[in-house]
Amino acid sequence: MLKYRTGLKDMPSYDVVERDWQIKVNANECNMNLPPMVEDRLMGRLSRVAFNRYPNEEYDYLCEQIADNHRLQKENVLLGNGSSEIIEKLFYCFGGTKAKKIVYLVPSFSMYSIYAKAAQAQGIEFPLNKDYSLNKEKFVAMVNEEKAGLAVICNPNNPTGTAYDLDTIEYIAANIHSNCALLIDEAYIEFYGRSAVGLLAKYPNLIVARTFSKAYGLASARVGYMLAAKEIITMIGKSYMPYHMNVLSLVTADIVYQMRHEYVPRIQMMIAERKRMTTLLDKLPGVTVYPSETNFILIKYAKAVKLNKYLEEQGIGVRSFGDKPGLKNCLRISMGLREENDTWYEAVKTFVEGRI
Ligand SMILES: *Cc1c(COP(=O)(O)O)cnc(C)c1O
Repeated sequence: MLKYRTGLKDMPSYDVVERDWQIKVNANECNMNLPPMVEDRLMGRLSRVAFNRYPNEEYDYLCEQIADNHRLQKENVLLGNGSSEIIEKLFYCFGGTKAKKIVYLVPSFSMYSIYAKAAQAQGIEFPLNKDYSLNKEKFVAMVNEEKAGLAVICNPNNPTGTAYDLDTIEYIAANIHSNCALLIDEAYIEFYGRSAVGLLAKYPNLIVARTFSKAYGLASARVGYMLAAKEIITMIGKSYMPYHMNVLSLVTADIVYQMRHEYVPRIQMMIAERKRMTTLLDKLPGVTVYPSETNFILIKYAKAVKLNKYLEEQGIGVRSFGDKPGLKNCLRISMGLREENDTWYEAVKTFVEGRI
């Protein structure tokens, strides 16, 4: 019998049911491919890649660009294969034994508890209020009582869409004990705008994680990054293998970042769609719509399981949460193109009005 690492057998696999959806609004992706101008530049750049060499300056170029944009230095930036890798490494580096505690919100990104297990740390769940707001005093109290080594806040929060204002983030940064790192997972920040990056200079334990997968529509390339004090970047950097970022993804993210102004209209369109769909969903009887500052909307509906099945039959893929704590009867719908949104809305409306 093979002798795997302790705990591995009980780890859940990440298996999302994917089908050839007619409308895919289940993963908070961007439903548009690269803007044509970006694609043109990228194709030219890819033809000049030195495939025979380990990536070298491409890593630094992207770090420098990101740093410049945030008025930081490149030593404040660490890239990862998606922010998933960043988060996983942070959990690994602040974990290591059952005695190390990592506090995160529930409901929030489901991978936090899995990364905590993988890091052999003790994951500690902080329950959000019923409306998914956050009691900052209680959060700080829990972090301090547990003597946590890492606290995580997803802002805006996935899958609830809830945003926590900068005063809340700063209150937490200022009041948790000095041996605890505070990670703000800003995967959806482009749709909200109020980033914690400006607080980095004041709070040396603060870490901000970002991704190219959502607003920048680059989920295929797997690129994310973290911003933090140089000492933190050096320490977390030790956990990576050499040349961990591949050059194809690096040059792709580099061009996307250089041309990020091309994405502003798209991001604004997604925000406009979110507002439009929130208003429309609000009109449906029995459907609770949670305010969102992201590119998705969470709804609660007593017959959510049946509704989800009906949508599946129509070729529409949304995200259902089953019996997950705090998410019973909830569905999360990502914003697609206007026509796609009209289509899934019609289907939801038909079901809710009992016209099927
Ligand atoms: C999508 C997502 C990520 C990870 O995205 P990557 O594709 O790995 O960069 C991280 N955190 C949250 C909350 C997300 O929703």
